[in-house]
Amino acid sequence: MASSCPHCKDRNLHPSRIEADLPALSCEGCGGSLLSLVAYRHWRENQPGQESVDTSDDGLDEVKDTSIALCCPKCEHFMTKFRMSADARNQIDLCVHCDEAWLDRGEWQLLDRLALAGKLTQMFTQPWQNRVRSTEAERRAELRWSERLGEHYSRAQELREWLRSNPQAREILAYVNQIRDDIPL
Ligand SMILES: [Zn+2]
Ligand SMILES: [Zn+2]
Repeated sequence: MASSCPHCKDRNLHPSRIEADLPALSCEGCGGSLLSLVAYRHWRENQPGQESVDTSDDGLDEVKDTSIALCCPKCEHFMTKFRMSADARNQIDLCVHCDEAWLDRGEWQLLDRLALAGKLTQMFTQPWQNRVRSTEAERRAELRWSERLGEHYSRAQELREWLRSNPQAREILAYVNQIRDDIPL
């Protein structure tokens, strides 16, 4: 039985290849692909150990993401969304019943650019999702500090980094803190 695209619904998925040795089922309408994690793990195990890391981060936001809930083409259950990284808003849909992942057009290439193509199964775990959220929270906090400190932000950052790596950081802070009461509010 042919599976239909969870996105376009009226189109069937056809056998395709995400990589030369990684089969999937793809939709010619939206360009998305259904990837079996069984096939993925097999591909992953046959990859050379060293993953190529492409550090260029241009155009990361170009890849469109489906924000609506999708139904698994195989079992019709709702798929669960997982964030791939704090560096991209994209989410990968996974059917936890069938172990099938849905990648929107360009998302595999995006994973590749973020050097995450080999980490797909780790992405579908709570620790990974927690890490994405905490990284984003840290970035938001950092942004608020930069707004609050304005022109002094970069200097404050330098000072913090210097202290972070300094074995006497606590003493230095105690020393500096002595002037606290002299500083006008
Ligand atoms: Zn489609
Ligand atoms: Zn399913």
